[in-house]
Amino acid sequence: MSAPQLNLGALDAPSWANGPGPRAVVWVRGCARHCPGCINAHLWDPEPRRFVDWEEIAGWLEAWPDLRGITLSGGEPFAQAKPLACLAHRVREKGGDVVAFSGHTCDELARGEIPGAKDLLGETDLLVDGPYLAEQSTELPLRGSANQKLHFLTGRIRADEIEGLPRREWIGGLASVRVTGFNPFPH
Ligand code: SF4
Repeated sequence: MSAPQLNLGALDAPSWANGPGPRAVVWVRGCARHCPGCINAHLWDPEPRRFVDWEEIAGWLEAWPDLRGITLSGGEPFAQAKPLACLAHRVREKGGDVVAFSGHTCDELARGEIPGAKDLLGETDLLVDGPYLAEQSTELPLRGSANQKLHFLTGRIRADEIEGLPRREWIGGLASVRVTGFNPFPH
């Protein structure tokens, strides 16, 4: 499947805090929403630094055969929905599952106004939707603020699998170790 290249922020594995683990996390670059207090503000800038084909990421995933699935985060994954839909399709046809975050609501994504968004939604097992609202900061699993909702769109990920997930983790190699998760440094 041909699709535009992905403006990639980072790839991480294995992760246990971004959905039922172990899984890989694909961080995309670029988000125009600029929610005050966003933990991933370093990924707002859409200035491309590393463009990759989705097939390259699929190839990288083959080095991690024990992963349960992937999580699409950022940045705004649905701003790059076309290549991510191809990647998610490949993961799911191999039996994996897909978690996706978005600052858009599920209804907005389903309207078909964002190029490729309906396709990516169709390849998403669990959508975490809505912007981060610092005044509604929460400790709920997989969410930074209480307005964000979990949408279990297929049977591949169950609600009970989300309970008890770690809210943050140290991830990466010796040269790039960093903390990921949900609002670990609340504003
Ligand atoms: S919380 Fe999500 S939607 Fe809001 S600025 Fe950060 S990446 Fe963008």
